[in-house]
Amino acid sequence: MTDFTYAVDADGVATITWDVVAKSMNVMSLAGFAELSAHIDTALADPAVKGVILTSGKKDFAGGMDLNVIARMKEDGGAQGIFDGVMMMHGVLRKIERAGMDPKTLKGGKPIVAALPGTALGIGLELPLSCHRIIAADNPKAKIGLPEIMVGIFPGAGGTTRLVRKLGAMMAAPFLLEGKLSDPKAAKAAGIIDEVVAPDDLLSRAKDWVLAAKEADLVKPWDAKGYKMPGGSPYQPAGFMTFVGASAMVHGKTMGVYPAAKALLAAVYEGALVPFDTALKIEARQFTSVLMNPSSGAMIRSLFINKEALEKGANRPKVADQTVRKLGVIGAGMMGAGIAYVAANAGIEVVLIDAAQDAADRGRAYSEGLLDKGIQRRKVTPEKKAEVLARITATTDYAALAGCDLIVEAVFEDPKVKAEVTAKVEAAVGPDCIFATNTSTLPITALARASARPAQFIGIHFFSPVDKMMLVEIIRGKETGDVAVAKALDFVRQIRKTPIVVNDARFFYANRCIIPYINEGIRMVAEGVEPALIENAAKLVGMPLGPLQLVDETSIDLGVKIAKATKAAMGDAYPDGAVDEVIFWMADQGRLGKKANAGFYAYDAAGKREGLWSGLAAQYPVADTQPSLTEVQHRLLMAQVLEAVRALEDGVLTDIREGDVGAILGWGFAPWSGGPFSWLDIIGAPRAVEICEALTAAHGARFATPALLREMATTGAGFYGRAAAQAA
Ligand code: NAD
Repeated sequence: MTDFTYAVDADGVATITWDVVAKSMNVMSLAGFAELSAHIDTALADPAVKGVILTSGKKDFAGGMDLNVIARMKEDGGAQGIFDGVMMMHGVLRKIERAGMDPKTLKGGKPIVAALPGTALGIGLELPLSCHRIIAADNPKAKIGLPEIMVGIFPGAGGTTRLVRKLGAMMAAPFLLEGKLSDPKAAKAAGIIDEVVAPDDLLSRAKDWVLAAKEADLVKPWDAKGYKMPGGSPYQPAGFMTFVGASAMVHGKTMGVYPAAKALLAAVYEGALVPFDTALKIEARQFTSVLMNPSSGAMIRSLFINKEALEKGANRPKVADQTVRKLGVIGAGMMGAGIAYVAANAGIEVVLIDAAQDAADRGRAYSEGLLDKGIQRRKVTPEKKAEVLARITATTDYAALAGCDLIVEAVFEDPKVKAEVTAKVEAAVGPDCIFATNTSTLPITALARASARPAQFIGIHFFSPVDKMMLVEIIRGKETGDVAVAKALDFVRQIRKTPIVVNDARFFYANRCIIPYINEGIRMVAEGVEPALIENAAKLVGMPLGPLQLVDETSIDLGVKIAKATKAAMGDAYPDGAVDEVIFWMADQGRLGKKANAGFYAYDAAGKREGLWSGLAAQYPVADTQPSLTEVQHRLLMAQVLEAVRALEDGVLTDIREGDVGAILGWGFAPWSGGPFSWLDIIGAPRAVEICEALTAAHGARFATPALLREMATTGAGFYGRAAAQAA
């Protein structure tokens, strides 16, 4: 394997080119590190070499560390293995930084410049940060940054220590704590890189710099005498304030549930108090502690490895390519307009139909509004706007659907209306066209009865707002065929979202789990649990919104509608009478949620949430004794998690990876946990059974232990272990 090539030109400038074979993007592996290290040794030892350019043979520099390698490092070597691996990386990067200079006199080093043609992420930026200069091509599409925090780790190959010493803790914070990415010009303005040049000049400029570099140009500020950290270190007044503020901000945002954020702060703070090489060691220790925390492994598994596997078609039936060329969207309301936008944006021709022309036009105007916002934010050019809008035809004429290979129906949530639309569409399109419904509650198998081609009928369930929400739930009806599933998956790939494929059942997967969460919160209100306790318990366990805020956002009347329909369908088995009492009463009071500026929360005239509504206590007085925080959290988590387990038992979910990824992307299930199945694996089935039994005794059969979980508690298996064994 060769990940790096090495060449020296007639002027004595060595070029190390990163070009991982058979990959479109460079990623770093342990073997890659060894190769890079050997090339650096060669360059430093060769008297004919004056300096080194480190660049890439691809259009981008690098996408980061191969996270599979990190996962394996942990499995193979445990904490010591990770620490040793990270210290090895520090050794290589420090060797680049010192470049053969005498550590006392700081003389005798060779200049090493990073020349970045495009995107440089994670280790792809940590490596350049160890070089003496970073020059990037002026490529507005390139992304430069350290996004590690997004998958539950932090920059652990010196990126944290170097960026803080380069920019100061305050200025480095958004890049480290939020994983903020910049284009080359913005990265230069922030002081992360040194120079931006025309793409064609990249290598010649790098070479000129190498040949002109003086000894002083090679000494990093933190290696020079008298270095002071920009913005002050923790024991100086200005620095002190930064660290106090950062600590408060991080804990406010993460609620203390993300181990990586805490460890990052600790690495920055402690690292700032000691010499550079000791700071690297501290960074390595904190990094190791994060990797040893089950949260980081679960986050990497769900948010990186499995998310990518699903996007690449892990569960796609093996049928020919089903790339969508012409899409019909029926219903130009909130969802239809959003679906038309994401499709047109992905280069697909769209026919957007509504019952009246002005409704169809409004649907198209929605795209115009989003594109205009993009222009304001300089993310979209006027040409791109014109191009995207030209792809959307807004009409009432079903004849325009001729030639469509996929239809997504997003009309009113009414089986009769949907049936009429299905028949009208099928009369207008060719025999191979796939028909998808975006229903959120109606069973697909029943809706498919209106179709003459039920094998071509499928559910494609988007979440609102369509342009922001990354999950798409694909639902197989009883008669849905493989081509329809492949079509839906290929469409989701085209619009760059993440798919899960589930079988048909009431509320499919996401809504099936989220509704019990909301209901459990409302049930507690009826019991007299302090609403602030309910909301804070949810947030302190990592849910982005408490159940009461969530129902305010989705609206109380929608809750009433779903409750009535569910009760009609379930009859005497309907379990949520206590919940209905509260939401029906709220609806009677006109407190329909955020859209009405009145719900479980109070809102000001501009619609800004002010706090929990004090009037609630008159109807549902707060009880004298309150449950513990843990009990409330267990109720809120188990309400969702048990539903996920039952969905697996029922065969609605067929792949726990989809259950975990879908939960995080679909409704924000505590991302630190890696998803409901990962959470159960973290606490272990025996503990989960114990919690279920306690909750069942106190609150009833809705918390009854699922048979699968009970069985796993006796066998000692975890969900992922069990899935791996089944796969093997
Ligand atoms: P909406 O009321 O905003 O839009 C529905 C549109 O369909 C309206 O523009 C209406 O004029 C049009 N329409 C109605 N009957 C029609 C007909 N016979 N022919 C052509 N057009 C017709 O509703 P929405 O929120 O966009 O929801 C649409 C569908 O998506 C529903 O099935 C809903 O359950 C589902 N859904 C909604 C959400 C959500 O958060 N709103 C999320 C997922 C799925």
